[in-house]
Amino acid sequence: MAVSDRQAILKIAVPVPQQRGEVLIYDYLAGPAIGAPAGSIVQIPLGARHVWGLVMEASDTSQLAAEKLKSVLMLADVPPLDAQTLQFLKQVSRWTLAPFGSVMRLLLNTPEALLPPPEQPVFTLPEEDKSKDNLSISRPLADVRLTPQRQRVYDFLKMAPPLSATEIARETGVSSGVITAMHKSGLLQKQMAVRGERAPILSPDQLTQARKSFILSDEQQQVADAIAAKGDDQFSAHLLDGVTGSGKTEVYFDSVARVAATARQVLILLPEIALTRAWQDRFEKRFGFRPALWHSSVSNAKRRALWRQVAEGQPLIVAGARSALFLPFPKLGLIIVDEEHDASYKQEDMTAYQARDMALLRAKITDIPIVLASATPSLESWVNAGAARQDKAGHKDWHQHILSSRFGQASLPAVQLVDMRLSRPPRGHWLSPDLQEALKVTLEAGQQSLLFLNRRGYAPVTLCSSCGHRLACHQCDSLLVTHRLAGRVQCHFCGISQPLSQQCPSCEEPDSLRAVGPGVERLEEEVRMLFPDAGIAILSSDTVRSASDAEAFFKAVETGDTDIIIGTQMAAKGHDFPELTLVGVIDADLGIGGGDLRAAERTYQLLWQVAGRSGRAKQKGRALIQTFQPTHPVLDALSKMHLDNPVAARDQFMQAEADARQAAAMPPFGRLAALILSSRDLSLLEATAGQLAAACPAYHGVDIFGPAPAPLSRIRGAHRMRFLVRAEKTVALQKIITEWLDKVRLPGQVRVVCDIDPYSFL
Ligand code: ADP
Ligand code: ZN
Repeated sequence: MAVSDRQAILKIAVPVPQQRGEVLIYDYLAGPAIGAPAGSIVQIPLGARHVWGLVMEASDTSQLAAEKLKSVLMLADVPPLDAQTLQFLKQVSRWTLAPFGSVMRLLLNTPEALLPPPEQPVFTLPEEDKSKDNLSISRPLADVRLTPQRQRVYDFLKMAPPLSATEIARETGVSSGVITAMHKSGLLQKQMAVRGERAPILSPDQLTQARKSFILSDEQQQVADAIAAKGDDQFSAHLLDGVTGSGKTEVYFDSVARVAATARQVLILLPEIALTRAWQDRFEKRFGFRPALWHSSVSNAKRRALWRQVAEGQPLIVAGARSALFLPFPKLGLIIVDEEHDASYKQEDMTAYQARDMALLRAKITDIPIVLASATPSLESWVNAGAARQDKAGHKDWHQHILSSRFGQASLPAVQLVDMRLSRPPRGHWLSPDLQEALKVTLEAGQQSLLFLNRRGYAPVTLCSSCGHRLACHQCDSLLVTHRLAGRVQCHFCGISQPLSQQCPSCEEPDSLRAVGPGVERLEEEVRMLFPDAGIAILSSDTVRSASDAEAFFKAVETGDTDIIIGTQMAAKGHDFPELTLVGVIDADLGIGGGDLRAAERTYQLLWQVAGRSGRAKQKGRALIQTFQPTHPVLDALSKMHLDNPVAARDQFMQAEADARQAAAMPPFGRLAALILSSRDLSLLEATAGQLAAACPAYHGVDIFGPAPAPLSRIRGAHRMRFLVRAEKTVALQKIITEWLDKVRLPGQVRVVCDIDPYSFL
C-alpha cells in the first residue's frame, strides 16, 4: 500500500443501482475530503460522470494500488449525515431490497443544496439617504432626473432590506432598467449577498405560547396528555384514532408544539393533496407562521434552502409528502403521519417503499415518538396498536387513542344505502331518484353537495356500435378512457392519448363510437341537465393539476360559487368543507370486487372518508350510497356510521377483516412480497421466469406462487409476469428472496422489481 497517510482512503457508497439491499462501496483517495467522517457527502468521479457519494468509513488501506485510485473532487458544503440518518438509509435498503444507491438518491435528490448558495447582486440606498424624505432634496444633482418611477424605488427602499433588481422592479412596478440606471448614477448601492427564502423558526417561548393559547376539549386534552406521558426520548407509536372532524389535527398540533419547543425538528407527513392552503392556514392560525413545505411542486430555490436548513439541524417544523421522510434531519424529535391509511404513502415505481412503515422505522432508529392519525386506520396499525381481539396487547410500544365524537356541535352524517336493484336510473344515467331528490333539497337549502365517483374522464369504455370493437391501448393491456374536456382518449397506465374521433378505427364506420359507463365528466353532464343553474365543479387529477388549480378550486367552494362538487378519490382526502351537507356515492361496488388483498379495507376507508366530508360544521349532514349489494359487510359497516358508537361499528368490520387475513396468514399476520418481471421480449421473459421457478427455494413456512402473467400483462410495450411470495411472520423474507434471485443470472433485458408488502396486484 503506497498511501501512507492515515485515513487517506475513503470508502464511499456510490449512487449506482446495483446489489439488492446492499451498499456498493468504492475506495477513493480522500483529497480535499481528508478527515471527513462517515456520513460526509462528497463529489467523486464515477466513470465519465461526477456524482455525489456518501463516505461510509475512513481507512488507511485499500485493496487497490494507490495509483489506481481516483480522488474525491469536493466535499459538500453541508454537515455530514448523522449516524441515525445513515442507519435509516441502510435499513430502508435492506427492508425494501432496493439497492442502497437508489435509496441514497432519495436523500440526495436536491444536489443544488450541496453547493454553497450562490451570491447575487442586491441594491440598497446609501446609508445617508435612508433618513431623508425626498430624493430631490438629498441629491440636488443636475444630471439626475427625478422621474416618478425613481421616486417610487427610492421610497420603497427606505423601508425594504437589500433586494435584487428583479424583486425591486416587481414590488414597485418599474422595469429593472430603472434600477440599473439608478445604480449607475450613484443613487443606489450594489452588494453581493446570498439570497433565498429561509423557512421560519420559532423560539421555544413562542411555541409554548401557541400551545397554551389553544383550548382542547376534555377528550382531546386527555389524548394529548397521554401522548406526552410516554416521553420524547424513546420510541413510541401512537395511533390517533378519531372519527372525521374529531380534532385529530388539533391534537397532533399540540404534540408538534411541545416537541418543537425543545428545539428539535418535527416532520409532519401528509398525502400531497392534503397539503392544501386550507391545511396551511390552520397551521398558521395555530402557530403564527406558515410551515416549511416539501412536495413535488415546491420551487427549486425553496427546496435547496430548506434542505440545507434541515441538514444544519435547525429546529424546523416540516410538512411534506412522503419524500420528506428522506430529508437529512439530524435532530428529529417527532414524526406525524396524517391520514396514515392513505394508499398514496406507498410508492410503487422505482424504489418501492411504504412511507408510513419507513416513518416507523425512522422513529425507531432515532428513538422518538411517532403519531399516526386516521379516522379509518389501516388494518396494520389497528392490529399493531392492540385493537384486534386476538392480540389485545398489541406491541408494547404502541398505543391507541380514541376520539369518539366530532368536535363541538357537529355529528357524523346519517348514512343511507340506496339499493340500485330497486331504484335504478334509466339507461345511460347514474343518479337514482333518491339521490336526485336529496340533491334538490340540498340545493334549495343553499348548501353544498359532493358526488363521488372514482373514475376520471368521461367514460371508461368506448365501443363501436357497428362492429363491437373497443378502443384499447396499443402498448398496454388496457382500454382507452374518453376525456371529453380534453378532447382525447387516453390510456391511464402509460399516459398516451389521441384525439377523440367518432369513427371506429377497426371497421371505419363513421359516427359509430359510443361511450359506455360513467366517468366524472359524464356525471357532470347529467347533473347539469338536472340542475342547470347550479355551480358545478369537478375535482380530479385532470381538472386540478397544480397547487394554483387547487387554490382556485377550494376558493370557489369556500365562497359558495360551487354548489355541487363531482370528485374522484381526490375528494376524499381530509378536506374541510363547512357548508357541505350531502355526499352521494355513485357506485360503491366499484372497488369491492377483484382479488386485491386490501379491496374491502380500502373501499371501506375510502367511502367512510368521503361520507365524512358531510356535515362537518353546524348543519347535520347525510350520505347516500348507491349499491347493488347492500348486504355486503363493507356497506353494512358504513351504514352504521351515525350510530351512537361509530368506532364500535367500525371495529366490528375491522375484526372480521382481521380474522379473514389471519385465517389466510396474509399481512399483517403473514408476510407478502411480489416479484414483477418485465421485458419487451416475451420469450426471454418466459424463459427467465421459468429459470426462477426452477430455482424456487423450498423453505418451511414459505409459499411461492407463480410465475403467472400479471393481470395487467403489458404496460408500455413491456410484457409482465409475477411471482408472489407468502411467508410466516417470523421468516426473514428479504434474505430468502435475495438468495433466490442470486441463484439465477438475470439477463439485462429483463427488469426485476421486488415489492415488499405490495399494495397493487396488477
Ligand atoms: P380531524 O382532523 O379529526 O378530521 P379536525 O382537527 O379537522 O378534525 O377538526 C375538525 C374541526 O373542528 C376543525 O374545523 C377544527 O378547527 C375544529 N376543532 C377541533 N378541535 C377544536 C378545539 N379544541 N377548539 C376549536 N376548534 C376545534
Ligand atoms: Zn397504455
